[in-house]
Order: sequence, then structure tokens, then C-alpha cells
Amino acid sequence: MTTSLPVSLRDIILASERISRRVRKTPIIRSDALSERVGTAVYLKLEHQQITGSFKLRGATNAVLSLKAEEKARGVVAASTGNHGRALAYAAKAAGSTATICMSRLVPENKVAEIRRLGANVRIIGRSQDDAQLEVDRLVQDDGLVAVPPFDDARVIAGQGSLGLEVFKDCPEAATVLVPLSGGGLASGVAAALKAINPDVRIIGLTMERGAAMKASLEAGRPVEVQEEESFADSLGGGVGLDNQLTFSMCRDLLDDVVLLSEPEIAAGMRHAYCVEREVIEGAGAVGVAALLAGKIEITGPVVAILSGRNVDMEQHRSVINGATAPIRKDVA
Ligand SMILES: *Cc1c(COP(=O)(O)O)cnc(C)c1O
Repeated sequence: MTTSLPVSLRDIILASERISRRVRKTPIIRSDALSERVGTAVYLKLEHQQITGSFKLRGATNAVLSLKAEEKARGVVAASTGNHGRALAYAAKAAGSTATICMSRLVPENKVAEIRRLGANVRIIGRSQDDAQLEVDRLVQDDGLVAVPPFDDARVIAGQGSLGLEVFKDCPEAATVLVPLSGGGLASGVAAALKAINPDVRIIGLTMERGAAMKASLEAGRPVEVQEEESFADSLGGGVGLDNQLTFSMCRDLLDDVVLLSEPEIAAGMRHAYCVEREVIEGAGAVGVAALLAGKIEITGPVVAILSGRNVDMEQHRSVINGATAPIRKDVA
């Protein structure tokens, strides 16, 4: 099975070595509260403690460190205003390259400032994410910048897979691993790593009911578009790309199930993370905890839930802690 995958265990081990001095090895802790609740050992992989606040730094760092010298000199480019943009800005600067992050005029100033603070050039263009992506394509064509996509890229998937290796090292007995799922770079990498080592491990993808593009695509048997909606799990928004090359087939071949969470369930996951585990987690990072609390996971053996990020608007976070069950409406997610 693993020999036919576009990203192999070997690729992931090499990525893990390549990035090892630039990313944190994040802790795994046992959650006594969740273990008691579900009746088996539950471990939390605290990846929200990663530099830049999410696992995206792993893939971005592997991509940047895989560049040839002349590519590194030309610089990298992406259109993400969220965790991938942050990660790529940081990774490029740390490696002595430059990131250009393209974003639309509608992106709020605090997000723009954060990406600038991390050392990236920011290009403000157009009025939508699609306009920003067109600018990425232009910079690749005209200026020779190297595009680093957020998930559908072998270097990025291999980098995210390093997280799977850490899960295995710290918790080799894991029988079920809960992975937040959007474009599927994280799930593809983690599943490729863990299933190559132990084909019996169950990997469950978790995402929000609102705009679950990978779930809809898996059901349709091909990448499809879905309507985007406001969600607590804003980092799980966006499609899988109609011309998806890698993550759609990897998720189809490697995931045992995809479970959907409602907004109140995601909010309950964030509240549990904060009030019981004492961790600030963004909605996308809380879906594993949410699924366990909601009783949506068939429990077999020790469970590991990956807490994937912490970059939540603190006003939003406060409202969730105070009991909100639907996200505050914003102009741009
Ligand atoms: C990007 C992201 C995800 C989803 O990762 P994919 O590789 O797109 O599936 C989950 N959680 C957080 C915090 C993210 O930033």
C-alpha cells in the first residue's frame, strides 16, 4: 500500500530530519478528564504550542529547506492570510529566503500586520482570495518566485507527516488518531507516516459540518466545491482544489472515517480545552476534543487527539468561553 503513495515513509523521515532544528517537538500529554470520560487512555498532542501557533510550520519549513539555492534566492509565494501564511513567512525568513504573501484588500489590518511582523513582503491586491491567487500565479510566471501551496504539495505533506512520527515515538500504542481535516495535508502526512509503521492504526479526519469540502469530495469520488460559511473552525475553511493532485487520493486511501462537528460541539471542545486542560485552542484545533465529548468516535484502544493550532481571535475565544455557540460574524474569515 505505502509504496504506491505519492509521499512515502522515507520522504517523511527525511523531512523530519531536515526540519528538526527549526521546529519544536511538541509534547504529548495524557488527559485524565477525557480518559475518564471515554473509558480509555486519551492523549493530546499539543501542536498548538508549535512556533507560529500551528503545525503549518512543519510543511512550510520542509518546502523552503528543499529549495535549490537559486530558488531560495528568488523567494517563495503563497496566498494564505492564515496559519500557512504565518508559517511560510517565518520559515522563509529563518532560512534566509523571502516570502511574499498575497492577500486581498478585505483582509483585516491585524492579519496583515502579523504576516509583516514575521518578515514577509505583503502584496495587497484585488477583493478576493481568488484575486490574491491570480497574483501568486503572476509572480511565479513573471518574477520566478516559487509557489508553496498550503496542502497539495509533496514537500508540505512530508513536513506535516513529521508530526505523525512524533506521535508514534511518544505514544506507540495509539490505536486511534484524531486529525483536524481541511485540505488534507496534515491528515495525509500523519496517516502516511503512522500507517506505514502500523497498518492497523485508525486515522479519523475531523471537520466542521459547515463547508466540509473533503468530506463532500470523498462522497462524490472526486474533488468538488462547497459553499463556505462562517465557522469557529475558520482554519478548516476553503476547498480542496478542483485540480487536487495528492491529498484527495491520499485521504481517500488512508482515512478510516471523516466525522463532522456542529458549531456548538466545536465550541464545547474549545471550552473543555481551556477550562479543563488549561489550553487556548482555536476552533480547528479543538475538533478532536469536540468529537470525543460529543461521543462521535467509536473508541478502540488508546486515542491521540492532535490539537493543531491556537491562532484564534481572543475576542472570539472569550465569547466561546462565556458560552457562545455560534461564531461572531466578520466580513472576512
Ligand atoms: C490548516 C489547518 C488545519 C487543516 O490542515 P489541512 O492540511 O488543510 O487539512 C487544521 N488546523 C489548523 C489549526 C490549521 O491551520
